Amino acid sequence: MSNDKEQKNLIIEIGKKLWQKSFVASNDGNISIRLNDEEILTTPTGVSKGFMTEEMIIKMKLNGEIINSNGKFKPSSEVKMHIEVYKRRSDVNGIVHSHPPYATSFSVSGIPLNNNILPEAVLFLGAVPLAKYGTPSTDEVPNSLIPHLKTSDAILLENHGSITVGIDLLSAYHKTETLEHFSTIYHHALQLGNVNSISEEKVQELIELRRKMNLPGRALIKTESGNVQF
Ligand SMILES: [Zn+2]
Repeated sequence: MSNDKEQKNLIIEIGKKLWQKSFVASNDGNISIRLNDEEILTTPTGVSKGFMTEEMIIKMKLNGEIINSNGKFKPSSEVKMHIEVYKRRSDVNGIVHSHPPYATSFSVSGIPLNNNILPEAVLFLGAVPLAKYGTPSTDEVPNSLIPHLKTSDAILLENHGSITVGIDLLSAYHKTETLEHFSTIYHHALQLGNVNSISEEKVQELIELRRKMNLPGRALIKTESGNVQF
């Protein structure tokens, strides 16, 4: 039980960060943590993620059954995305879905973040794919993730936002930060009229570095000579 309390407080902290950084507006976004093989904690719908309290956090099963919730609060329909990820990725224990403005701009423009322009983004995210648009609350949204989940921990959702996953919630959150930082810089560079990519030789060095660091999670690094999957 105390573990649940700790995890709920972590969700509340990450919710505050998402809201303070404008990665979400109003009641947008959702966060979850896997507690064990069957159970997750997730955020309620209709509540600002910047102002959550412990009793708002919902405990539910991966089959969709709600175990514990203060009657007033229900999980978001977007929890389907989280469930899809947990079912397909046993290595994932934390998920952040938000609408960070720069990353979401690329998703609206239909531009996946495939190029190797910042070392941190190459190392920690790899190429970020664009999942096909789906109508909110339908299975189209979780289904759109399926082609990308095997290869990526950070995915843009077309005309919607982003989802990042990690071995724990903090690592999932950090990927959202890295994604938005990368998107912001890339957007500014496009405005300046020139984007230089990291050379093929230097990308190979980053690939070696990622191997040495033995980072958890999945990343697909696109190179001129082919793709490298971690
Ligand atoms: Zn959303």
